[in-house]
Amino acid sequence: MKIAIDGPAGAGKSSIAKKVAEEMNFIYVDTGAMFRAVAWYFLSKGADPSDEAAVEADCGSIQIDIAYRDGEQRIFLNGEDVSLEIRREEVGNNASVVARYGCVREKLLQLQRGMAEKADVIMDGRDIGTVVLPDAEVKIYLTASPLVRARRRCAQLKEKGVSCDLNEIEKDIIARDEQDMNRAIAPLRQAEDAVFLDTSDMTIPEVVGRIRQLAEEAMA
Ligand code: C5P
Repeated sequence: MKIAIDGPAGAGKSSIAKKVAEEMNFIYVDTGAMFRAVAWYFLSKGADPSDEAAVEADCGSIQIDIAYRDGEQRIFLNGEDVSLEIRREEVGNNASVVARYGCVREKLLQLQRGMAEKADVIMDGRDIGTVVLPDAEVKIYLTASPLVRARRRCAQLKEKGVSCDLNEIEKDIIARDEQDMNRAIAPLRQAEDAVFLDTSDMTIPEVVGRIRQLAEEAMA
C-alpha cells in the first residue's frame, strides 16, 4: 500500500508521516531529505546550487542511498551519512533550488519509486501524489497558514537549541512555497484525488487519526 503526503514547507508532513508509519508498520520515506542531500553535495564543496549548468554537469557523480536504523531513515551521500548536516535551513532553501532541475528530479524519482515497490510506504514530498506515485491508494495534501508553519519551525529549532527569527522563517517559507509551486517540472500542487487537510487548528493526534482512517477505508 502507498500513502502519499504532499504539501508546503513546514506543514508537519514528516512528524505526521513518521507517526502514521510507526502505528501502521509502514516504511516512512522522506523525499525532501534526498533533495537536501543533493543541495548539500554542492554547498559542502563550495559550489553554487543555482548554477544549473554546473549542477547538470555534476549530477552523475552524486550517489544517494537510504537505509533504516532503529526505524529512522538515514541518508547517505556518496557513502557518507549526511542525515544531520542536511537539516539546516540553508540546506532546505537550496534543496528547493536544485529541485527545479530535470537531472536531479529524474535521478531521485527512480530511487523513490524503487522504494515504494519494496514495501508498504508512506512517502512525503511535493510531487508524490501527482508524479512519483500517481496510483497511491491514499493521497493527502497537508497544509497550514504560513504563520502557523513558521511558528512550528521555530519551535522545532528552539528545541534543538538553535535560535530563530520568526519573521525571517516566515519569509523563507513563503519564498520556498513560491519556488516549489511555480517551477516547470513537478511543481507542488494538490492531486485531483487528494484529500485536503488544513492543520492550522488541528493537533498531531487528530491529523494522524484522520490519515489512518482514510488508509483503513482504502484497505477495506
Ligand atoms: O520537505 P523538505 O523541506 O525537506 O524539502 C526540501 C525541498 O526539496 C523542498 O522545498 C522542495 O523544493 C524539494 N522537494 C521536491 N520534491 C519532493 C520533496 C522535496 O521538490 N518530493
